[in-house]
Amino acid sequence: MVRSLARSNQHFAKALARLPLGVTSNFRYWGEDKTIYIDHAKGGRLWDIDGNEYIDYRLGYGPCILGYADERVDAAAREGIEIGGVFALSTEREYSVAQRIAKMVPAAELVRFSNSGTEAVMAALRLARAYTGKDSYVMVEGGYHGIFDAALWYTPMKNWDPSKGEPEILAASDGVPGMIRKLMHMVPLNDANRLEDLFKANGADIGAYLIEPIMGNCCSITATQQYLNDARSLCEQYGVIMIVDEVKTGFRVARGGVQELMGFKADLCTFAKAIGNGYPLAVVAGREDIMRKFGDDVVHGGTYTCHSVALAAAEKTLEILDETPALQTIAEYGSNLQQGMGKILSARGIAHSFVGHPSMGGLFFSETPPSNYRDWAKTDYTVYEALAPHLHDLGILCEPDSREPLFICEAHDRACLDETLDKFEQALDLTLSQLNTAGGSAAS
Ligand code: PMP
Repeated sequence: MVRSLARSNQHFAKALARLPLGVTSNFRYWGEDKTIYIDHAKGGRLWDIDGNEYIDYRLGYGPCILGYADERVDAAAREGIEIGGVFALSTEREYSVAQRIAKMVPAAELVRFSNSGTEAVMAALRLARAYTGKDSYVMVEGGYHGIFDAALWYTPMKNWDPSKGEPEILAASDGVPGMIRKLMHMVPLNDANRLEDLFKANGADIGAYLIEPIMGNCCSITATQQYLNDARSLCEQYGVIMIVDEVKTGFRVARGGVQELMGFKADLCTFAKAIGNGYPLAVVAGREDIMRKFGDDVVHGGTYTCHSVALAAAEKTLEILDETPALQTIAEYGSNLQQGMGKILSARGIAHSFVGHPSMGGLFFSETPPSNYRDWAKTDYTVYEALAPHLHDLGILCEPDSREPLFICEAHDRACLDETLDKFEQALDLTLSQLNTAGGSAAS
């Protein structure tokens, strides 16, 4: 059964005349006849303008931690409207939300708010450079840290031939100045020797090491405990600021994010997404001696920073995440989903594994999960890419790109789980017969 997207397609044709690609983010364009326009969403489900209903595992790329249109958060946001918006002055609530963050995340000794993950990571990078006086920085292959020039670099693994040496490093967008490349180093995840060699050779110029230990834009490939411990001490040894990007993992994988889950402390860390259940608020936080650079020599601000609606929504969201078992409920759902999918896959002899945290798990069609982005290139993501459109047609919304994990929210309930597993089974069978007809073989 192929669902109708007639109205979405019609709207796309109209929107294209005024909006580049007919959308407001390149990632929302899924092709001329596949770009979906949303009517509304509630809980763990959303509806497109053709009336198709979906159980959503994208959740806006993660922010919707409790569920769409959560009544508790929306009531707080409505009170936030009454306060008046932005004033180019501060409110008392900034302090109380910062207190809550510091309680949940021990590394967040001091806190500054931003609007988006991009802004928060930009601020962290600037702060690290200012503190160390060193402009170069390190990113991890497969990582995503937002849409600013310093972060828009990637290794095109789909075309990588390991026999020809190291993967190429390219700008992810035209318009990113090539000269920035001279400041940036990229390392594979889970290779502490490589990091050490890099620091040995260039540590005198490197101010920041930017890492997302559960790679929320790369199938949730996860740093090992040993690698994190090694990276942590190498940063100390070479005077490099460790920036942990918790834009996706923060207030999701544990109350204290990936730092609590894996028992370590960043020098600086960034948060966004789950902090406001979808209302736009972000955070850069960290060690007091570094954070005090704000207001000393480092500029930070922005007209819309700490809008009263977003801040009120974040206060309520964090209260719920901190004081109720919401995150446990989410993790349990994720585990049940993985177990159910695992059974369906095993029954068909399909090798698979799940990685990351159950609240944002990545699905691989191989028994051994990848330990970095180079390994990902070797996994069979063609199965996922064939499966996703069938899931969409059946009303299960996942990202077409296999590098996005499955996000869970508190509002995903038993009915969502049963329906998802039932449809996953149907979609998988459709995929297998499609691939077999095409001459491929998914079963091992
Ligand atoms: N860091 C990470 C880890 C992210 O996943 C994202 C967004 N997906 C960002 C930074 C950028 O956040 P934003 O889209 O809010 O600018």
